[in-house]
Amino acid sequence: MFLAGDAAHVNNPVGGLGLNCGIHDAIELAETLGRVASGQAGEELLDRYERRRRPITIEFVQQQTVANKQRLEERDPRLRQAHFDELRRTVADPALHKRFLMRTSLIESVRRAREIS
Ligand SMILES: Cc1cc2nc3c(=O)[nH]c(=O)nc-3n(C[C@H](O)[C@H](O)[C@H](O)COP(=O)(O)OP(=O)(O)OC[C@H]3O[C@@H](n4cnc5c(N)ncnc54)[C@H](O)[C@@H]3O)c2cc1C
Repeated sequence: MFLAGDAAHVNNPVGGLGLNCGIHDAIELAETLGRVASGQAGEELLDRYERRRRPITIEFVQQQTVANKQRLEERDPRLRQAHFDELRRTVADPALHKRFLMRTSLIESVRRAREIS
């Protein structure tokens, strides 16, 4: 039994990550099942799916969607201002900007997943 998409993530929708990460789950699972079904790899490869996708869900989808929701819900004006200042700093700094985009686009998560054998 394999879980993919929202059934595996159980995240809030703030940030637009659920479908994106769900597609990555599906690609990983299809490749894994294909390799095992065609005899190119043994059944032990099936366990790699969870080893890869579970930490990615926690580190990227959960972390970002929870942070986004908390930022929207913040009622303290000083903390709201601090969040806006941080976002403005990120926009103004090309290195921070790129790091933010690599993370929110989940490109970084694809690279991280490939490191997990
Ligand atoms: C307002 C909103 C905005 C969003 N914006 C974005 C975005 O910009 N970018 C992004 O990446 N993600 C976004 N998402 C998240 C995205 O919609 C979901 O992550 C994605 O649709 C999940 O796909 P899924 O196939 O895993 O689940 P689902 O789309 O929920 O599909 C599950 C399917 O299973 C069916 N089903 C349930 N129970 C049964 C059963 N017992 N038997 C048979 N069928 C069953 C359901 O009817 C449904 O069709 C948003 C979500 C919301 C709510």
